[in-house]
Amino acid sequence: LEEQVRRSDRLKTIGQIAAGTAHEIRNPLTAIKGFIQLLNKSLKDRDMEKEQEFVGIVLSELDRVNDLVSEFLLLSKPKELRQVSMRIGGVIQEILPMIRNEALLHNVTVIYYPKPEMPPILADKELLKQVFLNLGKNAIEAMDGGGTLIIRECSSSEEPGRITVEFRDTGPGIPADVLDKVFDPFFTTKPQGTGLGLSVCQRIVDDLGGSIEVTSDGYGTLFVVGLPCS
Ligand code: ADP
Ligand code: MG
Repeated sequence: LEEQVRRSDRLKTIGQIAAGTAHEIRNPLTAIKGFIQLLNKSLKDRDMEKEQEFVGIVLSELDRVNDLVSEFLLLSKPKELRQVSMRIGGVIQEILPMIRNEALLHNVTVIYYPKPEMPPILADKELLKQVFLNLGKNAIEAMDGGGTLIIRECSSSEEPGRITVEFRDTGPGIPADVLDKVFDPFFTTKPQGTGLGLSVCQRIVDDLGGSIEVTSDGYGTLFVVGLPCS
């Protein structure tokens, strides 16, 4: 519990900073991106290959900043929750094509085990999709040489008010000393990482009244998202 309070305090601070600046950064960013894309088109029409390459780099770095700002905005959360009753299977079906697509690029196999007759949950679909996408993305990034991602829905009669969704990968796993830092804002082991993905997951799941837990060993990593039924 102490750990959760610490996490949530940190997230609040980050949220306050983010709320004030993220929108201000995003607006000019959108304009910059638009004009750079126009510039790119002109360069293409003139066959200026070298310059196109430079502009391509600018565009991909802009995307990176954009991702960071989006994650900031999710953490800052002035956005009100739109919780409605839904089936978890429907939510997963919507993100599965994106995850499979990303997996294909990294030589990762995705296996999805839906469970029939899952009780409906109360959630905000867009936010929940964000959680599952982040978990899927992390798993795929962890298995760079290929591997398997298993997504599984579970419910049990022992816990009738709750369902869980598991994301299990066959990546290298997370060392014990790293494991309790993975939800910290800005913690990343990736050269290009923002370290905000799991903070965003944690924030959203907290807001939805759910839970997120991670366990790992040398054979891979398991994230379990618990959600209240409606
Ligand atoms: P980022 O992906 O930008 O690094 P995250 O908050 O999504 O930020 O993840 C934080 C860190 O947690 C990652 O850098 C990585 O070290 C670790 N991590 C998360 N998911 C996994 C996973 N499935 N396998 C191994 N490590 C993971
Ligand atoms: Mg991530």
